Amino acid sequence: MHDTRPGQRPLLTMFAVVVAGLLLAAHAKALSQEPAKDPAHYRTSVVILGAGTPKADPERSGPAIAVVVGERSFIFDAGPGIVRRAQAAADRGNPALAMNRLDTLFITHLHSDHTLGLPDFIFSPWVLGRERNPRIYGPPGTARMVDHITAAWSEDIAMRRSGLQAAKALGFAAEVTEIAPGLVFEEDGVRIEAILARHGKWVAAFSYRVTTPDKIVVISGDTGFSPELAEFAKSADILLHEVFSSSTVDRSRNDADYHRSFHTSTEEVAEIARRAQPKLLVLYHQLFWGASDAELIQQVRSAGYDGAIVSARDLDVYS
Ligand SMILES: [Zn+2]
Ligand SMILES: [Zn+2]
Repeated sequence: MHDTRPGQRPLLTMFAVVVAGLLLAAHAKALSQEPAKDPAHYRTSVVILGAGTPKADPERSGPAIAVVVGERSFIFDAGPGIVRRAQAAADRGNPALAMNRLDTLFITHLHSDHTLGLPDFIFSPWVLGRERNPRIYGPPGTARMVDHITAAWSEDIAMRRSGLQAAKALGFAAEVTEIAPGLVFEEDGVRIEAILARHGKWVAAFSYRVTTPDKIVVISGDTGFSPELAEFAKSADILLHEVFSSSTVDRSRNDADYHRSFHTSTEEVAEIARRAQPKLLVLYHQLFWGASDAELIQQVRSAGYDGAIVSARDLDVYS
């Protein structure tokens, strides 16, 4: 009954091939029907950890923007206040900004207002439970800055890793990648690209574009008027752009020239947004010079931009 005489072999082989084919087809179908990951895994929002500038404004911490994708956070710049604002966001129910999740940071440029929170970002979450070394991406010079910070806190590191305090072996040793324009990061549905910003004489200042399965977020960093950024920000859901109030900037002072080459006026932001057409324009790193949020928005509107616009405050969430 079960012998396999030579004459039957081709038949059996054919049967095996057919069965294998059916199994493969069923497997492929199962793969194609595999339920997509829970959309919450990729749900993207932007949390303002700091909307500020070098000004020591108690209401606006130094610049730091979190792009939250599900339970992951990608933070852009490390202004002073970054860790406490992240904890405040976590306390408001955003687990992606809990201390043990603060592990991925992108620096736009090395001006102190954007980097004074670096030691805080490197050490505080470690002391508070982060077990993975933080990843820091930034312009050339970032590695040297992080090396100096690590050396400056070497006594603290040694103390915490020995004796009664015994902090985790991992979590404080930042892994730095110095970037060039182009694709700088890609991981589980998140792509981050960078272009050079026009920030005065800075050779390497970056703007970033974050593409997730459900959103495109563009962060200008500090920049003067940049047609390249307008192009880079096309089809963005959220464009976060720095700005200064052109009606209140003191043109009689020498720093008017400085602001024009390093930063973007309300009229120029209107032109950038008119070209890029983001679904939402968020003004941040606002140099008010006495203007209010409403006046800043009014200036952009008067300059011809009629899309959705807000003037960011710390802990605002956009999604
Ligand atoms: Zn700045
Ligand atoms: Zn700057």
